[in-house]
Amino acid sequence: MGRTFSSFAIAFTERLCYYINKYYRTEFARVRPEQEGERIEHCIFVYYLSILMPSHKDFFMKRLIDKLAATQTLEKEELLYLLSDYDDNSSEYLFARARDVAKQHFGDQIYLRGLIELSNYCKCDCLYCGIRRSNKNAERYRLTPEEVLDCCEIGHKLGFRTFVLQGGEDRHFSDDIIVSMVESIKSAYPDSAITLSLGEKSKASYQRYFNAGADRYLLRHETADPIHYARLHPKSQSLQNRMKCLYDLKSIGYQVGTGFMVGSPYQTLENLVSDLLFIQEFQPHMVGVGPFLPHHDTPFGHHVKGSMELTLLMIAILRLMIPNLLIPSTTALGTIHCTGREQGILAGANVIMPNLSPTNVRKKYLLYDNKISTGQEAAEGVIDLRNRMQTLGYRIPVSRGDYRPVHQHGNTRHLSPSLYPPIERSTSHVQSSI
Ligand code: SAH
Repeated sequence: MGRTFSSFAIAFTERLCYYINKYYRTEFARVRPEQEGERIEHCIFVYYLSILMPSHKDFFMKRLIDKLAATQTLEKEELLYLLSDYDDNSSEYLFARARDVAKQHFGDQIYLRGLIELSNYCKCDCLYCGIRRSNKNAERYRLTPEEVLDCCEIGHKLGFRTFVLQGGEDRHFSDDIIVSMVESIKSAYPDSAITLSLGEKSKASYQRYFNAGADRYLLRHETADPIHYARLHPKSQSLQNRMKCLYDLKSIGYQVGTGFMVGSPYQTLENLVSDLLFIQEFQPHMVGVGPFLPHHDTPFGHHVKGSMELTLLMIAILRLMIPNLLIPSTTALGTIHCTGREQGILAGANVIMPNLSPTNVRKKYLLYDNKISTGQEAAEGVIDLRNRMQTLGYRIPVSRGDYRPVHQHGNTRHLSPSLYPPIERSTSHVQSSI
C-alpha cells in the first residue's frame, strides 16, 4: 500500500513538473513587451514553485534518463525536453549510465576499424560536403585497387580486422571493380570484415558486393526530416531514396550503419528527435554521429559548427536506446576538440576508426575544414590511440568487432556469441589485445 502510494506520488509529481515546465517555457517564449506584468506574475509563480520543489529539474531529468535506460525509449516530448534542458549535472548522469551500459555489453573493449578513403571524386552535390561535385578547388584523387590492398596489408599487421572502404560516389568505381576489390581483400584476409561506405546504389549492386563478401555498409541518413533533407541537398537527391537504400541493405543481410550530423544548418531539436525516433524504428547495427563542421568551399562555409556537447548527448541517448549498438567516436568529434574522441568513448561510444589511407591523400579527403589527418603513419596512429584508450581504462582487441544481438530471457539480457553474422563469415571475435 505504502509503495503504491509513493510510486503514485512520484509519477504525479513528475507529470506535474513536466507540465509546469512545458507551460512556463512556452508561455515565456510567447510573452510580448506589453505583457510585462504577466511576465512578473509568471516569475513569482515559478519562484514559489522553485521553493516548493528546489531541484525539480534535476530530479525530473534523472527520472527521464532512468526511464530511458530501463525501457530503451522515451516519448517525443520527453526526448525534446532532455535535449533542450540538459545541463552539466544531467549530462554527467546520462554519460555515466551510457558508459555502464556500454561496459555491460562490450566490457573494456573498444573496436578498431581501418578507414581507407578510396576516392574523393563525387557525383553528388551535398551542400555541406567539401568533396561535393561543385567544389572546383578540391584536389581530386582515387586509389588503385593495389594501393587499397597495400593499406589492408599494413592495417592487418597492426591488428585491424575491419577495413572500411569509404569514398565519394565515383563513377570510375564500377560494380565490377568494387566486387573484385572486395574479393581480393577477402581472399587475402579471410579473418577480416569489410565495410563499404560508397553511397546510394541499386539493390542489385548492394547484393553483388554482399555476395562478393562485404559484411557491413555505412550510409548515414543525414537527417530524418524530408524538409530539412531538402535544405541540405540538391533536388536530385532525396531522403526517400536514401531510406530505400537503407532498407535494401538491411534486407540483403548487411550489418547496416546509419547516422547524422549534429548542428547541420537549419537543424532544429525536433529534427534531432526525429533522427532518434527513426533510428529506434529502423534498428540499425551501427550509428555514426558527428558535429557539422563547415568547409570554406561549400555553400555552408559561413555556417556555425555543431555543438560537441549535444553530439555527446546524442551518443549517450543512442547507447541507452539500443544497448548493443556499434557507435564510433567519430573523426569529426576528434576534430572539434583535441579530446573529442575520448569524450565520445566516455559518453558510451565503443568504436574508433583510425585512418589507414596513404598519408599523401589524407589531406585531400577534406569533408570539412581542419579535419584531423595527422601526418602520422598508421602504425604511430594506432600506438597513440591505444595509449589514449588505455588511459581511459579501455583496450583495443584484435577482433572484427561484429554486431551481436541481445536476447531476452525473462528479465536477463545477454549477448548471443555466434548467431550473427553467419558462421562462414565470422572468425573468432577476440583473439588478443594489441
Ligand atoms: N559517399 C558516402 C560517404 C560520405 S562521407 C556516403 O554517401 O555515404 C561520410 C559522412 O561525412 C557523410 O555521411 C556526412 O555525414 C559526413 N560529412 C560530410 N560533410 C561533413 C561536414 N561538413 N561536417 C561534418 N560531417 C560531414
